[in-house]
Amino acid sequence: MNRKKIILIFLFIFIVNVSVILAKEVVLKDIRYFTYKDYTRVVLDLSSPTTYTSKELKEKSRVRFFFDLKNTILSKKLKNEKRIEFKESYIKEIRVGQFRKNIARVVLEFKEAKDKRYFTLLHPFRIVIDIYGRNIKPSAAKTNEKLNNKIETQFKKGTPEISGEKKYSMARQLGLTVKRIVIDPGHGGKDPGTIGKYYKTKEKVVALDIAKRLKYYLKRYTKLEVYMTRDRDVFIPLEQRTAFANSKRADLFISIHANSAANRRAYGLSTFWLNFTTDPHSIKIAASENASSQRSIWELKSLLKKITLTSKLIESKIFATKVQYSTLYYIRKYYKYPDYRVRKAPFYVLIGASMPAILVETGFLSNKTNELLLRSSRFRNRLAFGLYKGIISYINSLR
Ligand SMILES: [Zn+2]
Repeated sequence: MNRKKIILIFLFIFIVNVSVILAKEVVLKDIRYFTYKDYTRVVLDLSSPTTYTSKELKEKSRVRFFFDLKNTILSKKLKNEKRIEFKESYIKEIRVGQFRKNIARVVLEFKEAKDKRYFTLLHPFRIVIDIYGRNIKPSAAKTNEKLNNKIETQFKKGTPEISGEKKYSMARQLGLTVKRIVIDPGHGGKDPGTIGKYYKTKEKVVALDIAKRLKYYLKRYTKLEVYMTRDRDVFIPLEQRTAFANSKRADLFISIHANSAANRRAYGLSTFWLNFTTDPHSIKIAASENASSQRSIWELKSLLKKITLTSKLIESKIFATKVQYSTLYYIRKYYKYPDYRVRKAPFYVLIGASMPAILVETGFLSNKTNELLLRSSRFRNRLAFGLYKGIISYINSLR
């Protein structure tokens, strides 16, 4: 074969591949929703990533949000369903239809205009739409526009770093207090989380036990309203966890986990707040907690750019720091426990939370000593007490 022929063959293969990719239609598989009194979260489940446009139409007594999903067809289920009605809610209905041959349209219809925001999650690809009722006020820690703009600029430069946040925090200036807290025990049900290398300890069990102990301390010693995303061994999707916190108008959100590392010597405590990171250790943990690949963590960067404006990043970082060092202080009265530091990482479970939100990795189930500690109820109790003290210390710092 001469060179021309070879090039032609390669070109042919390339074109065939491209057309196969283009022809592959995305399927809108399902529409899930969580409605509460003043808050609704709608989740569009798609078979693979696609682009979409959205617009809002306001008339006298009708407000409609459209989502046009490109290159998308409806699943059999949705073809039959077409309309979801809501009787006793400010949301009237959700309609779905094949608007054009390759465009699926989802319409959300409301009785009145609402605050809304939407973002996408990966693996599987889904579009999450949050609609806030009139009575939902931002939580105690208000977004500091000035600082968030600064972060946004830094994102554009590629070095998202926050400095001097304490001085600026709006929550601090207003001296707002915290009334409600949501504790989120990681994993559950069919998702066991990470599993201990030596004694097969399940993360979901450890997380739930620590969460229950933390709830006990908060109920016993404070007047806070405490809610748990789960109080038994049940599976709850990540997006439902923050939806629950938003619906409760929680002022704080704390997700409890245990992790594992390839380096079996790693052990200790780390607390995460939501942000983009280039630290390989944090990327690995975020990938495993998100049940996704490390590559997709890089894809999250553009998503994070969009959400910085609505997230309580600065307060979350302060919250994380208080909880990390208070917990270590109380654990270390009885145990030797390394400081795996306060870190940032893009966790799905923290995305879309409208309040300061953190994720605590209580220890490494991949380390023998650490797994033994996490199996000890006395240790878990100590850890929960430290978390409780950390939360109090954060709340006191707001005054
Ligand atoms: Zn976890």
